[in-house]
Amino acid sequence: MLKSFTDHCKTYSVPALKNTIRIFEQLLYPLKCLKCGVYIDPDTVKPHTMEACFCDHCMGPGFHPIDTPFCIKCGIQFHQITVSGFDENHVCEACLKAPLKLDRVRAAIEYKGIIKDAIPLFKYHSKLSLAKVFEHLLFQTFLCHYSRSQIDLILPVPLHKKKLRERGFNQAYLMIRSFIKTYQKSY
Ligand SMILES: [Zn+2]
Ligand SMILES: [Zn+2]
Repeated sequence: MLKSFTDHCKTYSVPALKNTIRIFEQLLYPLKCLKCGVYIDPDTVKPHTMEACFCDHCMGPGFHPIDTPFCIKCGIQFHQITVSGFDENHVCEACLKAPLKLDRVRAAIEYKGIIKDAIPLFKYHSKLSLAKVFEHLLFQTFLCHYSRSQIDLILPVPLHKKKLRERGFNQAYLMIRSFIKTYQKSY
């Protein structure tokens, strides 16, 4: 039995076998929009992206990464450029009035559009395929804002044990569990 399987592997190339496995995966676990359930053509999307999780209709205008200008303390996105055209990153009014006790906070994306559906689907409806999507977005943000910092520890926000029992997972941990491995691979 083992011999015949080895012969089979020799007969068919590794890429052909991988392709066969992919076709079976698509048949067994077809890509579906996590919001409305319509099928998504896997050949038109990259794996582990928001486009692989939501159909075009549900994606709408998509999601919005935080971009300049933003507050250099709390990280909030500024949408209105001042009359003087001041579009540099700066400290927001709230942080000037009540300075944060943290050095700085950075977010990957604004909480609007499809993200308002994606986060509850991940957190409360166990749509765990989103973990990789969020992890990628967070990692890009981490590289952008913290890669030159002295990092002592990367910690997920802990979850109360009662919540952990109910939910079965800590969403913050799922979003950073491959951080170190990916970081080491990048450098
Ligand atoms: Zn949809
Ligand atoms: Zn601020």
